[in-house]
Amino acid sequence: MIFYRKITACLRRAAGETLAVAVTSQKLIVVVLIALAAGVGVQAQTLNIRIAVVSTSPASIQVNAEFSTPTDVISFPNAYGNALGLAERFENVAGRKPNGQAVAAKKLAPGEFQTAEKINQISYEVNLSGPMPPAQHSHVSSLNNERGILMLSDLLPRSLKGSGAFSSVLVRLDLPPGWIAASNGEKRTSLSYFTEEPDKMVFLIGPRLQEKSQHIGAKDFSVVLSGAWPIADKDFLKIAGQIVREYSKLTGFELKRNTVLMLVPFAGDAPPTRWTAETRANAVVLLLGNQGSAKQVKSRLGIALAHEIFHLWVPNSLNLEGDYDWFFEGFTIYQALRMDLRLHLISFKDYLDTIARVYDSYLSSPERDALSLIQASERRWTTSTSVVYDKAMLVAFLYDLQLRASSGCKASLADMYRQLFQRAVTRQADANETIIGVLNERFGQQSFARQYIEDVGIINLESALSPYGIVVSHTSAGTKLSADHANKEQKKVLNCLARN
Ligand SMILES: [Zn+2]
Repeated sequence: MIFYRKITACLRRAAGETLAVAVTSQKLIVVVLIALAAGVGVQAQTLNIRIAVVSTSPASIQVNAEFSTPTDVISFPNAYGNALGLAERFENVAGRKPNGQAVAAKKLAPGEFQTAEKINQISYEVNLSGPMPPAQHSHVSSLNNERGILMLSDLLPRSLKGSGAFSSVLVRLDLPPGWIAASNGEKRTSLSYFTEEPDKMVFLIGPRLQEKSQHIGAKDFSVVLSGAWPIADKDFLKIAGQIVREYSKLTGFELKRNTVLMLVPFAGDAPPTRWTAETRANAVVLLLGNQGSAKQVKSRLGIALAHEIFHLWVPNSLNLEGDYDWFFEGFTIYQALRMDLRLHLISFKDYLDTIARVYDSYLSSPERDALSLIQASERRWTTSTSVVYDKAMLVAFLYDLQLRASSGCKASLADMYRQLFQRAVTRQADANETIIGVLNERFGQQSFARQYIEDVGIINLESALSPYGIVVSHTSAGTKLSADHANKEQKKVLNCLARN
């Protein structure tokens, strides 16, 4: 499961039902099949690939790949996160021997092909026309008449990605006339890109992409937009840039490479409350509903980015090993909520309302107290999303509250991030051990982490919050948290919680 470790997919907030609909049936054929060997200097361990858009309706791309170690087995990935059935999309697989002679590939099962002789070139088509829930669009490659999001993690054969297969990829794009590209890879020419992290490489392609960049610290932060938006390009850069600066300050750590935010409208004319995002290495892919007023879109953009941009730090800049989704998802949800409050994107009442909603979601999950946060993180893609997101978020809230109260508002959860970044960037370390160590040190005791992170600590907000004057009431519209009757001492802690 190393493949998933640093991939952060924020799946919960934008469960989509609307299917992407191709707008016209215009067919764009741009591909000319040329074997890649000609004229391309093949470096050892570098996979040379060409990706060509065959047609946008129906959506199809052609991939040609040339590799240094011949093989007779081609195996495509079938799943990414909780998206399944991806292997069905691969068609017309064919191979070539080093001497250029064609070799037929026999399909053994969906996504599994074998050739009678060893080959070092393959070509295949990927059918991207199948319906896909809009919430998957930030996680899996897609293409339509207006744009495409291409992710190498689901487009390249797995069998070429094993250890020793290759360590880098050079991608050349063939796009429909008038289309351009943006990528988190290193740009070599206008349509070729290099990466040493093939699984993290993402392309946004389309006819009308707007790109704007600014320096933040020593690096560039770029925003690439597709589609029509009710706010100006520079506002996107301003909002994202502010959040990047805030997290640099919070963690005491500046991003070490250029970063790109790719922003695309959520499918089906959706309001800005609908969004789905994923952060891969130095790229944030965000699909956000664009059907709303400028104010609504700005506010939701800020809320989505407060979460997603933090993933550029946690986990993507940490050198931590192991399954610790409880921390980089659950604690990130909470820390992003704190950022929303700090940037005045939400009120303190909204903050309490969000915690109440998450508590309801936690209470409604039958598996909520079956596994510890660490155990749940090992099974995030199968059964334990509520624990990893909801319960871990509530644990972060309780930790923050108790730390603020016990320190007389001199410390908070935010401080532990700075300490974590001093410790877990240069030297590789075990994630759970390191994070729990920092949490315990800040708190001055070990029982909190043992109870709620290592063991199956049951969360009871009613009793946990009553010492702070926060009353938990259950109404027909869901749980409510209110602090209207707090005494003077309790108000001190509440005021601390309400400010940053
Ligand atoms: Zn996330």
